Amino acid sequence: MVSETAIDMLKTELPVEQDSFILSEDVKTGLVLVDMVNGFCTVGAGKLAPVQPNEQISQMVDESVRLARMFCEKKWPVFAFLDSHHPDVPEPPYPPHCINGTDEAKLVPALEWLENETNVTLRRKDCIDGFLGSIEKDGSNAFVNWVKNNQIVNILVLGICTDICVLDFTCSALSARNRGFLTPLKDVIVYSHGCATYDLPVHVARTIKDALAHPQDLMHHIGLYMAKGRGAKVVSEISFGALKEP
Ligand SMILES: [Zn+2]
Repeated sequence: MVSETAIDMLKTELPVEQDSFILSEDVKTGLVLVDMVNGFCTVGAGKLAPVQPNEQISQMVDESVRLARMFCEKKWPVFAFLDSHHPDVPEPPYPPHCINGTDEAKLVPALEWLENETNVTLRRKDCIDGFLGSIEKDGSNAFVNWVKNNQIVNILVLGICTDICVLDFTCSALSARNRGFLTPLKDVIVYSHGCATYDLPVHVARTIKDALAHPQDLMHHIGLYMAKGRGAKVVSEISFGALKEP
């Protein structure tokens, strides 16, 4: 088992300073939700779903609902990735999950209403990195087009898993921004309480052949640390208000 001490030690050795982010009418911000699907978030929904209620995942869903409601009330742009796979195309190293047309590949019940919102773009993807998963057959990129069409300056990223799909998407978005593909995008902001990862403790992984241990708190922290290292802003608080002093 990973002890509390090991996690505390890691947090001391690899600290992630977290700021707060103020959402403002003055700066166009887009909300990016990564894989808020049953297959990753709903207890017992599939091979990659939590096996029992999980606080980190519940908090992530609650925070996503809160922010999505705020964005939809204001008709601000929202881009939601949904992991969805063709039944005949595996995604190693993962077992089959989120197969097209199943409940696993659907938004969690608390976010199903997003399907009817005009400011929301839903994007099914069949790979870890949503940036790659946004490439269309003609070579265009649905995510790039969303940023450009909406003239988005900041993206606020929430989702699962902090150290997998959220991290890979964040890194690709940062590289694309640095190469000038995402103008006018300035900041990629990862909201820590709006992200979660799965839990496979070391003592459980030892009992499963070839399993790679994945202690939740530790890997969540590492995901945030890596994102910050690549140039994302990591925030632990989001408020709404005017950016400038009157
Ligand atoms: Zn997948």
